[in-house]
Amino acid sequence: MRKGDTQEIRRLNRRAILSHLRRGPLTRADLSRLTGLAKSAVSRLVEELLQEGLLEEGAFTSPPLGRPGTLLHLRPGARFALGAEVGVEGTVLLALDWRGEVIWAKEWRHPKAAGPEERFARLFQEALPKTEGALGLGFTLPGVVVGERLLFAPNLGWRELSLKDLLADFPLPTLAENDAKASALSEVFFHGEENLAYLVLSTGLGVGVVAEGRLLRGANGAAGEVGHWQGQGERRCACGRKGCLETELSLEALLQHHRALGGEAEDVDTLRAQAQEGDPLVQASLAHLGEALGRFLANLAVAYDPARVVVGGKAAELFPFLEGPMRRALEAHAFLQAHRTLPVQPSSYGHLAAAVGGASLFLARFFELGGLWAESPRRNGGRYAEVAFGDRRGPGA
Ligand SMILES: [Zn+2]
Repeated sequence: MRKGDTQEIRRLNRRAILSHLRRGPLTRADLSRLTGLAKSAVSRLVEELLQEGLLEEGAFTSPPLGRPGTLLHLRPGARFALGAEVGVEGTVLLALDWRGEVIWAKEWRHPKAAGPEERFARLFQEALPKTEGALGLGFTLPGVVVGERLLFAPNLGWRELSLKDLLADFPLPTLAENDAKASALSEVFFHGEENLAYLVLSTGLGVGVVAEGRLLRGANGAAGEVGHWQGQGERRCACGRKGCLETELSLEALLQHHRALGGEAEDVDTLRAQAQEGDPLVQASLAHLGEALGRFLANLAVAYDPARVVVGGKAAELFPFLEGPMRRALEAHAFLQAHRTLPVQPSSYGHLAAAVGGASLFLARFFELGGLWAESPRRNGGRYAEVAFGDRRGPGA
């Protein structure tokens, strides 16, 4: 057997062990049974992982059935990655533990006119003191991202931007991704699903779709830019065209509708506070948005047929007000019986979700490589080749 082959087998076996331990503590005997590896092989690899500080030994367990043994689990804080969402209104930066816990998070707002240099300079200034020990910095943008290029982010007004130039001086490996796509990948990474749509409903509207275990990108990376579906409307969209869906279905559209009804809320935070106080005008505006959301989900169900929809972006925090009207509209407009009861949930990470998605780009690669980060043959000038971690054999499978 060639050296490369044994290294590859070691990676796959380590990946299998880590993948099972992600779901909870197990004994060596459990791992042998679950992976199909010989007990001696499991013991050797576990020893290796213990020495690297990735695993920890916990309580001794003596189950009613099966063999007693010491429980192994992923050591909290053993690895982490930085994640950032460079959004329209501001930036969120956080550190995500490899077990999915947010270690710390920080956010700040930008003036609307702030350009890429200004926004990234601030991001680096905030991130630089926190880089030690991090696997990398994964960040998201509200637009079409292909590799190290941003093709178009309408709500930021940015076009054809080389991210490589902006990131040249940053000391960690970096990865860029569209906000909805990164968020969809993080859901799949943490929950191991095959068919999922992740809706980012904020200033604009976008969706990240994982279908049959694969993230949909399309020929130009624009798959999921559903906010720019063309309708018959006359309102001008940030992309420069008229009648895009996000002129009717977005938090910007929510604010406009609210003002048209005579409301005076300046931003979504004010709107949410007023909704909690029971303001009938605000509740009417939110019901209008919820209805539009339900109708849209009926369309999304025939386009991609997801098994579950997650609502992220700032709308996740408004979800309790949107849910009722959304469900009624979905039931009224559903094509298949199954679509009437399509599970729709707010993101459990709230408005941190996109930044969590950014960080999970690196964590997923770490697991994919069986934790052999520094030894990775994919390593190339500090950057890592694309690893499909949403596939059937990936984590959680
Ligand atoms: Zn548009």
